[in-house]
Amino acid sequence: MRVTRFAPSPTGPLHLGHAFSALTAAARAEGGTFLLRIEDIDRQRSKPDWERRIYDDLHWLGLTWPEPVLRQSDRLPAYRAALERLWAERLLYPCTCNRRDIMDAASAPQEGGLRFGPDGVIYPGTCRGHDRSGPIPDDVPLRLDIARAASRLEGPLLWTETGEDAGMREIAPGTLIESIGDPVLARRGMGTSYHLAVVIDDARQGVTEVVRGRDLVEATPLHVLLQRLMRLRIPEFHHHRLIRDETGRRLAKRDDARAIGLYRDEGARPADIRRMIAL
Ligand code: GLU
Ligand code: ZN
Repeated sequence: MRVTRFAPSPTGPLHLGHAFSALTAAARAEGGTFLLRIEDIDRQRSKPDWERRIYDDLHWLGLTWPEPVLRQSDRLPAYRAALERLWAERLLYPCTCNRRDIMDAASAPQEGGLRFGPDGVIYPGTCRGHDRSGPIPDDVPLRLDIARAASRLEGPLLWTETGEDAGMREIAPGTLIESIGDPVLARRGMGTSYHLAVVIDDARQGVTEVVRGRDLVEATPLHVLLQRLMRLRIPEFHHHRLIRDETGRRLAKRDDARAIGLYRDEGARPADIRRMIAL
């Protein structure tokens, strides 16, 4: 039984790129189950009104999903439990470096200049030596010691991509310190991070194929590493093309001009949306 999902954050209007992602995920369910998940761990930016509009736009597009919808803000105990296990295994350390500290340390000559990975600037490991004993600290950002995590795994990270570049992927876990650095798994005021929450919830919901944009393809090795560390089932991954504007730039939250709601207000039909995204 196939299970796919669309996992928007209620921080702005859904635009054509979201429509493409949601319709692709629903089509990939192929008679199985298409789920909607609300990724609202950022309590500052998430708004009930945006969430309501997400339901409205997706229903208008003709999509349906099982209720109740899983909301990440209701899942904090599950994220906390996972963090406690990783903490007990000495795989996490507290880090209160701010962006400026990280930029300065990462751009030092011996670090070879700033490099970016799927968790932002590749963290130079300034706080890796911080104390990991005692109880898990409260509301302090926690990073994963990715080299140590990798050393706990046997064999390569293996997964299947089913999108345009379909095939098996194989990565040695020891290379992630170079390509990602130590990612933040718990952000201040959130109790989790995107990477941790998405992996835990995909497993909890029995997602068999993760359908999302190409912009997240580089996060996949980290997600598979987390799945292996937490002994979760590894789903298939389908990274779809991105919807771009006339200048070739991919659509983002700021592209409110491409909001589905605006097209609707102008009298567009769902078929018009499908045509615009070439479905
Ligand atoms: N909430 C994420 C986003 O809107 C979902 C990413 C994913 O599908 O893994 O980009
Ligand atoms: Zn730090």
